[in-house]
Amino acid sequence: MNTATQITLRQSRNIERLVEGVATSDGAGVTLTRVLTGKLQRRLDPFLMLDAFGSEDPDDYIAGFPDHPHRGFETVTYMLAGRMRHRDNAGHEGLLGDGGVQWMVAGRGVIHSEIPEQEHGVMEGFQLWLNLPAQRKMAEPWYQDYASEKIPEYTTAENVTVRVIAGSSNGVAGVVAREVTEPLYLDIHLPAGASFSTALPAMHNAFVYVYRGAVQVGDTRVDAKRMGILGNAPEADGVTIAASEDARLILIAGKPLNEPIVQYGPFVMNTELEIHQAIDDFRNGRFA
Ligand code: FE
Repeated sequence: MNTATQITLRQSRNIERLVEGVATSDGAGVTLTRVLTGKLQRRLDPFLMLDAFGSEDPDDYIAGFPDHPHRGFETVTYMLAGRMRHRDNAGHEGLLGDGGVQWMVAGRGVIHSEIPEQEHGVMEGFQLWLNLPAQRKMAEPWYQDYASEKIPEYTTAENVTVRVIAGSSNGVAGVVAREVTEPLYLDIHLPAGASFSTALPAMHNAFVYVYRGAVQVGDTRVDAKRMGILGNAPEADGVTIAASEDARLILIAGKPLNEPIVQYGPFVMNTELEIHQAIDDFRNGRFA
């Protein structure tokens, strides 16, 4: 565990909008909350989706996500609690456990399954979809699992604990660095009474999602199970988050691609033609 001196900001971003998310189910019947829906893809470019899942009832998760394809983007699964086994058509297999991350670049195509490896207990975490730039949508697929102990963590003087999954924060580099979209992905634990600041490039789109307690950003309170979209102001050089009670949240930011987004289920491309091609390639076994 590192200690880090946090930046003093000139000006913090503010919350532009609070989002509740939509209860839904996906895969073979997994109950989840879609926090970042299709309607927010343009505003939160390069992010395409955020699902939050959390349940201690196995009926909500046990069926998992049997074989399904992806093309044209990256998926980032962060498991707060629980165990999930994944297998893909390239022969990769891995087990994601408490506090672990799986980063997958679907690129030109992956077919995989994500199946819980537990029959009881809590399963809680997030899946984020990060877009790929046009010239990398058909890249070779890639994936990596990172066990919890591989994820860099730091603590501030106010005892805020920060896990750096991607990007860098207050001088601490995360376990993943990605070009072009330069994603930042932090898991932040604030004790009651603490505040926390980190730098954010002004033009990067950013949001927080609170999963325990509540936080304050400027004049706005963000309760648990709410996303707060952080406004982009040219003079704001980061965000300051305060907590009057113990709170946990994720903070995600990235550089927008400003390219057309055409989605059909698990395929996200730039044009309708590329979507038809993806469907055709999948149906004809060209993802293998
Ligand atoms: Fe998947």
